Amino acid sequence: MVETQSGAEASRVDILAIAAHRDDVEQTCGGTLLKMRSLGLETGILDLTRGEAGTRGSAAERAAEAEVAGRILGVRWRKALDLPDGRVENTYENRLKIVSVLRELRPRVVILPYWEGRHPDHYTSAILGYEACFLSGLARVETGLAPCRPYKVLYASLYADVRPSFVVDITPFIEERYGALMAYRSQYANAEQGSGLFVPEEEIRERTFAEARHYGQLAGVRYA
Ligand SMILES: [Zn+2]
Repeated sequence: MVETQSGAEASRVDILAIAAHRDDVEQTCGGTLLKMRSLGLETGILDLTRGEAGTRGSAAERAAEAEVAGRILGVRWRKALDLPDGRVENTYENRLKIVSVLRELRPRVVILPYWEGRHPDHYTSAILGYEACFLSGLARVETGLAPCRPYKVLYASLYADVRPSFVVDITPFIEERYGALMAYRSQYANAEQGSGLFVPEEEIRERTFAEARHYGQLAGVRYA
């Protein structure tokens, strides 16, 4: 039997990163997505909100920036759900929205935000994402697509004080990883508005590299 690639198969991914805000994935596991892509795996990003509550930039601006960042990361699929920014809640309705995506993309691995964090949207997304992965495997939860459950759920942290159970060597991808983050010009480029709250561009570069260097040292590589 010859297998042809149907529309559904064309949109499948091996690894799906789920996060609350556009630019979260770029901060927590952009390097990993680049590395997996280089190994021939298909990757995707699901942003749960559209960024309408941000201090800088509109939701439309952030959509355009997310598309550029996604291209730099080489993802096959990226979409944003419509959960309210700053009010991500672990409800059955929200879990089902994620289940629909999981059943469409059928990822083998899902990367979620770490379960502790400063922003409630981040840690709520960790539990919401986990419960959606579980629910997705239940045949009785009907969405019109066959049930599926990821083989593995991973958590990616933004904070250097979390001791990871493993790190990923991203040394060859560190510049692209940084480039994907800087695609969010409305958030990270130096600007007057919110300048007391936001970190200057030069410092973001230093922090990004220092953090990756810190994790790299745990594995005896340059950047992780
Ligand atoms: Zn965020």
